[in-house]
Amino acid sequence: MPSLQHYSTFGLNASCTSISSFSDVSSFLSLYQPNLPTYILGGGSNSIFVGDFEGAVLVNEIKGITHYDTDTHHFLRVGAGENWHDFVALCMQNQWYGLENLALIPGSVGASPIQNIGAYGKEVNAFIDTVEVVMLTSGDKVLLSNQDCAFGYRDSIFKHKLAEKVLITNVNFKLPKDNVLEVSYGELSSLEDATPERIFEKVIEVRKSKLPDPLVLGNAGSFFKNPVVPLCTFEKIKKQYNNVPHFLVNASDEVAQQSGEPTMVKIPAAWLIDQAGFKGKEYNKVRCHPTQPLVLTNLGDARGEDVIALAKEIITSISALFAIKLEPEVRLIGSEGLITL
Ligand SMILES: Cc1cc2nc3c(=O)[nH]c(=O)nc-3n(C[C@H](O)[C@H](O)[C@H](O)COP(=O)(O)OP(=O)(O)OC[C@H]3O[C@@H](n4cnc5c(N)ncnc54)[C@H](O)[C@@H]3O)c2cc1C
Repeated sequence: MPSLQHYSTFGLNASCTSISSFSDVSSFLSLYQPNLPTYILGGGSNSIFVGDFEGAVLVNEIKGITHYDTDTHHFLRVGAGENWHDFVALCMQNQWYGLENLALIPGSVGASPIQNIGAYGKEVNAFIDTVEVVMLTSGDKVLLSNQDCAFGYRDSIFKHKLAEKVLITNVNFKLPKDNVLEVSYGELSSLEDATPERIFEKVIEVRKSKLPDPLVLGNAGSFFKNPVVPLCTFEKIKKQYNNVPHFLVNASDEVAQQSGEPTMVKIPAAWLIDQAGFKGKEYNKVRCHPTQPLVLTNLGDARGEDVIALAKEIITSISALFAIKLEPEVRLIGSEGLITL
């Protein structure tokens, strides 16, 4: 059974029945066996194999980037197997702006719409025009509009109705020439004379200083989503913790100041986990990262059951302390495929 350790940035020592890569749709269709559990993999930076997977892992290497522009926009068609950060860097070199806040997010372009990647106040859905997919059962090619994708906070149709039903082959981006800079989040607010290039560089600098490098310390980025709770839940927490950090959001999860009335509140999961005393805590070889408790790390030879045990302990504690149910942002894969906690 081939090892998956180097196919996932968390680096657990799990195996699978077979691993193959493909660089076009016809080779994917010749590898795909409908009766065998199949996991499509990009960079493996959001996937943790917590046990041996009894199925085929198919690694997407569809490449290619094309560009044209109009008076108002740059349009880019990008192969799903392109590396996300390299694509953002290429855009910056060519002064195709908009994606600067999303620098240095690991993984592939094809996975970016799946959890609607976001960082520093921007989410990728603002720049996605359409997504090209192939239906796994029929092999039919379908073009999904931005609206079809039903994007939300770390969410999209690819996690629901189309979960494990499609291969994303290309993502088509639409970058406005009148790009609006976003510098209201974290360290970006201290930037003087912000330009897309300065934002790009600052984001890289801050991410390198705060987040563990998966090449050095196995991890899959944020383990949990930031919970979005009703105003009344937030008010209860605030009575006890006056300093609780928060962002007002409206029902569609957008930051309220941008549109509509705030109806919900997003609370940083890292703060909740820190309050519950998990920062730096170790469970066998799995650790809650000391400078960013939202990240769980593999201290070497960690086991899937330890990851699950620590994650469950965190969920139970946060639920008891704050009456909030944390949800994983990572995808956990067991012997038969995706599992939930
Ligand atoms: C250090 C670190 C920092 C991170 N920071 C952020 C951050 O700031 N913001 C953020 O949003 N995320 C962040 N992440 C999470 C991760 O980078 C993103 O989720 C990324 O989009 C995953 O890409 P991937 O190719 O590695 O996905 P994978 O883990 O390979 O796959 C993720 C999911 O997508 C599916 N999939 C992948 N490609 C395809 C395809 N072509 N067709 C169909 N299904 C597919 C897989 O089956 C799986 O369910 C971080 C991760 C790490 C390790």
